[in-house]
Amino acid sequence: MQILNGNQVAKIIKEQISENVKKLNEKGYRNPHLTAILVGNDGASKTYVNSKEADCKQVGFNSSVFRFEQDITEDFLIEKIKEINQNPEIDGLIVQLPLPKHISELKVTQTINPEKDVDGFHSMNLGKLMKGEDTFIPATPFGILMMLEIYNINTSGKHCVVVGRSNIVGRPMSILMSQNSKFGNCTVTICHSRTQNLEKYLKEADIIIAALGKPEFVKANMVKEGAIVIDVGITRVEDKNNEKGYVLKGDVDFENVKNVVSAITPVPGGVGPLTRIGLLKNTYKSYLKSQNIEGFE
Ligand code: NDP
Repeated sequence: MQILNGNQVAKIIKEQISENVKKLNEKGYRNPHLTAILVGNDGASKTYVNSKEADCKQVGFNSSVFRFEQDITEDFLIEKIKEINQNPEIDGLIVQLPLPKHISELKVTQTINPEKDVDGFHSMNLGKLMKGEDTFIPATPFGILMMLEIYNINTSGKHCVVVGRSNIVGRPMSILMSQNSKFGNCTVTICHSRTQNLEKYLKEADIIIAALGKPEFVKANMVKEGAIVIDVGITRVEDKNNEKGYVLKGDVDFENVKNVVSAITPVPGGVGPLTRIGLLKNTYKSYLKSQNIEGFE
């Protein structure tokens, strides 16, 4: 059984990006720049934005964060996004979700310039993904693809079951796994909360991608021997013995499932670091395009 180590993959890719940025600096190019907008005081969102800033620093990107109070108006946020859209010094813009209820996530994501939409949530970018065109792949599915590539996991002809159909994880993941590409070419089943006999589908899967947000939902008896399991879920579960007051749990009962499978991602240290890498890669891609840089990837 192999543990698919997201931290290790992240380290390799960060080193590659960092070296390239150094080389580009030597040639006189400016640094790539990622901007985040954070609205409100959600603890998890603050943690995510802080780690994205730290990642940028590590690879030589500039980063900036616009922090706004919970009660800002939708119009104010839209105007701010339009300003950033126009700023030639900024290559990537993300708006940390979830947003307060009075602000439309759809309207906000559609306002971001698709050329700077490094989260890949704009309909234009999701449409391109559907058609297999070059685009910003949403960060989590992109990170998972990089991991499949680094571990050289053969996906062709395999039955992949994706649990969850959100626009940011499950649905794009299902499309990518079915695409005619080296780390795609799967026969894909996508499951959700209305799926009947979910356990039957899981048991048939060669590859399971669990993205439902229900801690330890996937049990050892639901998984085929030798399957590959990618656990996207991250839920804070109360734990009074932990100094933070919670522990992070994935959607898979890792301790028991690991004894049945051929490869599995842990939580934490699996898909989480890869998601952050997906974002860095997309920012770097946007930067190469905005600066008309050729010969680097
Ligand atoms: P959403 O809540 O948007 O989507 C959850 C999906 O799971 C829905 O499609 C839902 O079905 C389905 N679902 C819920 N319960 C069940 C069930 N009992 N059986 C089958 N399907 C079910 O979540 P996200 O896609 O945004 O995130 C999923 C998980 O991944 C969360 O834990 C999140 O924190 C984590 N995550 C982790 C990231 C990382 O970096 N590792 C990045 C992004 C997310 P329906 O559509 O019918 O409601």
